[in-house]
Amino acid sequence: MNAPDPKLLAALRAIVGLAGVIDTPADMAPFLRDYRGLYQGKTPFILRPGNVDEVSKILALCNAAGVGVVPHGGNTGYCGGATPDDSGAQIVLSLSRMNKVRAIEPLNYSITVEAGCVLASVQQAASDAERLFPLSLGAEGSCQIGGNLSTNAGGTAVLRFGMARDLVLGLEVVMADGAILSTLGSLRKDNTGYDLKSLFVGAEGTLGIITAATLKLFPKVAASATAYIAIDSIDVAVQLLGELRSASADRLTACEIMKRSALELVVQHIPGCVDPFETSHPWYLLIELQSAQANEPLDALLEQVLADALDRGVIRDAVVATNGAQRAALWKLRECIPEAMALEGEQIKHDISVPIAAMPVFDGEAGKWILQQMPAARLITFGHIGDGNLHYNVSQPAGGDGAGFLARSAEIEHGVHDIAHRHGGSFSAEHGIGQYKRGELQRYSDPVELEMMRSIKRALDPNNIMNPGKLITA
Ligand SMILES: Cc1cc2nc3c(=O)[nH]c(=O)nc-3n(C[C@H](O)[C@H](O)[C@H](O)COP(=O)(O)OP(=O)(O)OC[C@H]3O[C@@H](n4cnc5c(N)ncnc54)[C@H](O)[C@@H]3O)c2cc1C
Repeated sequence: MNAPDPKLLAALRAIVGLAGVIDTPADMAPFLRDYRGLYQGKTPFILRPGNVDEVSKILALCNAAGVGVVPHGGNTGYCGGATPDDSGAQIVLSLSRMNKVRAIEPLNYSITVEAGCVLASVQQAASDAERLFPLSLGAEGSCQIGGNLSTNAGGTAVLRFGMARDLVLGLEVVMADGAILSTLGSLRKDNTGYDLKSLFVGAEGTLGIITAATLKLFPKVAASATAYIAIDSIDVAVQLLGELRSASADRLTACEIMKRSALELVVQHIPGCVDPFETSHPWYLLIELQSAQANEPLDALLEQVLADALDRGVIRDAVVATNGAQRAALWKLRECIPEAMALEGEQIKHDISVPIAAMPVFDGEAGKWILQQMPAARLITFGHIGDGNLHYNVSQPAGGDGAGFLARSAEIEHGVHDIAHRHGGSFSAEHGIGQYKRGELQRYSDPVELEMMRSIKRALDPNNIMNPGKLITA
């Protein structure tokens, strides 16, 4: 990689104008540190282009000069993907000024938005048009649609609507040499060769910069029923998940699991969070049924299924939300787990997935193995059990040595990833690779798959300017 010379820097400034450059140390600081505080980078300045033509001109110049470009969305990613290296030679390109809704087409059930739109604003625009954009995750108030697509984000509604990739109809992408690829449009069927748009979803900015997307919409939710359920084990969660899907004719939108330790942290640290039950239980499920039909009696259906499960001794207890405030309070118990964990000191985080039926055996093996290695560590397991995806997190021993605990991260992560891999799973279910998991990608991927990824990278970014040092190197 080359360092940008003063002439290139001046030309880049001229493309975006004064409003498109951030260059004071204080204003640049938030762009140079990743969300988890694992990486700190440097850059000459942050560029904030206002339209796709400016992005195209920036990339054409950087490509000709062999200068790296780091796309930056809402900076909520967990793997350091949006942080430049510490050479000071990479240009950070923020999409935050490209935040317009270009078109909303209710009859086509589609919306076309620029990449810098914050996820919550896309959800709102859909709702204003009596439609649903179903991607939903804890960071939705700050993550951007470009970042969501580039990490192929999951979240809490994957069970019903799929990952970010499943929600894309078309993309506008600026390639490394500045060429603009546009597959934007509301076509539902288009079998005309390779599905190019899919290449850029989950590519973490290593193949091009997503500048806009046409996304699928769905009928707006008109009825929902939410319950918090106490259970004995993860086996019960898997069994109940299967039963709920059938009993609700697949109206199950979310099925989130949390261990007792996760609930305890939230209740301890987050104001307004209260344990819904009088006695403690080993595990909990948060489930939600949704329908677009206003008069559909989902509460009655859910209560009937849960009463039956109680009678059979499958579940220990359950509360069903009777109004919006109760529903929000139950969701808060799930959504605030990362915040509560952060207040407990250092953590070793895992974002594994295994086939749903293999979750109990994975949990048994991984939990036993971790406690053999670190007897005082705390397992704060939670996640999207409906997708076989657990945030199998480990918190440092209470009051213990945080630095010593973190020094063992790689060893513990390998052990947990090995167990997931043995059960047909993935070491990165929804957070991607970034800088953090590059080694794991090499460790677990099939050599043919890796070589194919390198070939694609070489073909689309021959000068390796697109987010160098992330995901894979050609
Ligand atoms: C509280 C919290 C909860 C979360 N919950 C979930 C969850 O449930 N599911 C989940 O999947 N993730 C979750 N995440 C992780 C994170 O929010 C997602 O990965 C999100 O999709 C990242 O979007 P972003 O805009 O912040 O991207 P960034 O962090 O800015 O960037 C992520 C990657 O995408 C690249 N990129 C960004 N914009 C573009 C673009 N326009 N074109 C090309 N490349 C681009 C960056 O270079 C980087 O490699 C959570 C994070 C937090 C903090």
